[in-house]
Amino acid sequence: MQKLITIKKDESILVSSQVESFLKPDYVYLPLLNEDHILVRLKDKIKIGDALEQASSYLAPVSGVVRGLKKMTSLKNVSYFFEIENDFEERRKEEAKIKRKISKKEFLSLFPNLAHKKNVVLNAIDDEVYVSTENFYLFLHYEEFLELLDKMYQLFSLENIYVCLRASSSENITQLMSDLGMYPHILLKMVPDTYLLGQSSFLLSYLGLHEEDTEVILASKLNDAYSFLVRGRTKSDQLITISGNVVKKPMVIQVKVGSLLQDIVNELVCITSDDVLYFANGLMRGKEICLDSFVVTEELNSLLIMKRQEKEKAGKCIRCGMCHDICPVHLHPLLFSNPTYWEQAENKCIKCGLCSYICPVHIQFLLDRKEEHHE
Ligand code: SF4
Ligand code: SF4
Repeated sequence: MQKLITIKKDESILVSSQVESFLKPDYVYLPLLNEDHILVRLKDKIKIGDALEQASSYLAPVSGVVRGLKKMTSLKNVSYFFEIENDFEERRKEEAKIKRKISKKEFLSLFPNLAHKKNVVLNAIDDEVYVSTENFYLFLHYEEFLELLDKMYQLFSLENIYVCLRASSSENITQLMSDLGMYPHILLKMVPDTYLLGQSSFLLSYLGLHEEDTEVILASKLNDAYSFLVRGRTKSDQLITISGNVVKKPMVIQVKVGSLLQDIVNELVCITSDDVLYFANGLMRGKEICLDSFVVTEELNSLLIMKRQEKEKAGKCIRCGMCHDICPVHLHPLLFSNPTYWEQAENKCIKCGLCSYICPVHIQFLLDRKEEHHE
């Protein structure tokens, strides 16, 4: 198995166990995917769950009035968003009744490969330092998750179900232990605090399981599945972690999909420095963002706010070989400046950032590639 490493972190940054909420934004923004498919017009009144364009999985998370299209930024590769002004009436499109019986077909509509699997792994591991989003989905919804996993087990005659979480998630472990007695076929697997174990392929290899017969489901996705299958509800909110070394009280927040990140920060976050950098989805694999007009879409799981530090100047390579030794897919990052090598390596590289993290002379391989690309 691939050697896994522990990323150094500031142990004083602890996400509070209380979940905050930001569920009443004045405006929300939904990505426009195809302008030929728009179903609404300016000033239309909409309900929660209404579609704004054909064939889009983005449904209105609030009731309100369509105010137009606006240029915004997000982790989604689109430029324009529908602007909806919240009327706070919480009018909902008619929803299915709460169900206790879920058919095989309904499960397969969300997890189409389940029919061919022997095992299910519930993955509640956050693969970035200071991020606790997946862990909190499990913490808040473990009873519902166990119920749903048990139904899967019976309907699909599964052999094993594993619930995977970090060994350091002590509150989650205590809760789960007390309920797991009722589900003898669901096994708890605690994994060490090493980087990349939250990635399906690494987790499966750690557990000694194979991709062909195992379905790996993230805790956030199982939560969406429970809301849809049992409550008949479409997704209107999600969890995000906001933390970092300048955040007075790091926390997990339940937010309306489509909220502006700046509004959430203004209302709930106390930042202890003026000179900071913002990172979406972690320090290792996430990216630096500008908060202005940044919309929360389902791809966003965290915002890290870090004090700006003098960028360490890259030195001369000392040929230690550590960048190659650590690479989980056995690439030679030193050869990235060679266009022929990069062409083959680009798709293989999982952009984990380990090569730059380990380099003693601070060479930023992927950043250097991007900069070269833009020249
Ligand atoms: S970022 Fe790419 S090259 Fe660097 S260690 Fe990760 S997979 Fe290897
Ligand atoms: S880790 Fe840095 S110093 Fe070592 S071989 Fe790679 S680029 Fe050179």
